[in-house]
Amino acid sequence: MSGVKIDKTTKDRLLEAAKDILSNAYAPYSNCRVAAAVVDNKENIYTGVNVENASFGLTVCAERNAIAAMVKAGGKRIEAILIISNIGAIPPCGACRQVIAEFAEERVPIFLADDSGILEEWTLGGLLPRIYRPDKWLFTNSKSSGKSISSQK
Ligand SMILES: [Zn+2]
Repeated sequence: MSGVKIDKTTKDRLLEAAKDILSNAYAPYSNCRVAAAVVDNKENIYTGVNVENASFGLTVCAERNAIAAMVKAGGKRIEAILIISNIGAIPPCGACRQVIAEFAEERVPIFLADDSGILEEWTLGGLLPRIYRPDKWLFTNSKSSGKSISSQK
């Protein structure tokens, strides 16, 4: 599945940004280091690494940390994501796919890489068909009326 065309310069910037921080990943339990780099619609790049925890359920993936960095900085829309690991091409987990979908259209490319470069190219829609987006139906009335949900009793 092909997505938005991302130019080579942007791909190189994403790869370099993710490579630069891969060694900062905190992965003492799995030894699977992951870094993610996100580019937004203003061509700003944000990065994150996985942060594991002794209580495994508290582990946060690199993709979600990169997206949190984007949101913190005021970024709104994801144009592409690159995920690099020390064990080869690994796709985003299900939870991350849903979080990516909050800020990305189906056509957004997701590049999977290792130290040698980009190995695979997917799109969000290819990895997460029939995306769950409550904003497109659940809150339609509250948005169109300008009223909060609590004021619609
Ligand atoms: Zn994940």
